[in-house]
Amino acid sequence: MNKREIKSTLIDYNSLAELDSKYRELIQKAKEAAEKAYAPYSKFRVGAAVLLENDVIIQGNNQENSAYPSGLCAERVAIFYANSNYPNVTIKAIAVTANTEKGFIKEPIPPCGSCLQVMLESENRRQNPIKVLLYGEDKITVAEGIKQFLPFNFNKEMLK
Ligand SMILES: [Zn+2]
Repeated sequence: MNKREIKSTLIDYNSLAELDSKYRELIQKAKEAAEKAYAPYSKFRVGAAVLLENDVIIQGNNQENSAYPSGLCAERVAIFYANSNYPNVTIKAIAVTANTEKGFIKEPIPPCGSCLQVMLESENRRQNPIKVLLYGEDKITVAEGIKQFLPFNFNKEMLK
C-alpha cells in the first residue's frame, strides 16, 4: 500500500483592488454575463468571462432548459464559444461568478466537474495553464491552472 497525497493551491483575495486591472475587468465581464443568464428554474444565474491571449474577452452564462439535462453551464458556453471561434488562440484566464435573487454570491463557487474537465482539455490543448478567478463579494479565489482542481485527472495521454 502506498498513500499518495496530492496538493493544490488556491489563493484568496479580500478585495478586487488586490488584482491586476485586466482581471478586475474580466470579473466585471463575468458579472455582466451572469445578469444575462437564462436560469428560470434554478434562479442561479452564473456568468463566465474568458480572456484569450489576443485580449479578446468571451462571455457566457448558464442556459437552462425545461428538459433539464439539455441546459449548459456558463463556463462551457464561454469555453466552447472561444474554442470554436478562436481554435488556435490560447485561453489565459476565466472568471466565474453567480447572481441570485439576493444579489451576487458572497462566497466564490467552483466550476462543476464537467466544466473543469472541459477547461482541462483546453489547457492541455494549448499547453498553457488557465488562471481561474472565482468571484464572491466577500472573497475572490484564484487558482493557477485547472490542475489545482483536478490534480489527478483523465486526459488524452491515457487513450494511448
Ligand atoms: Zn459546469
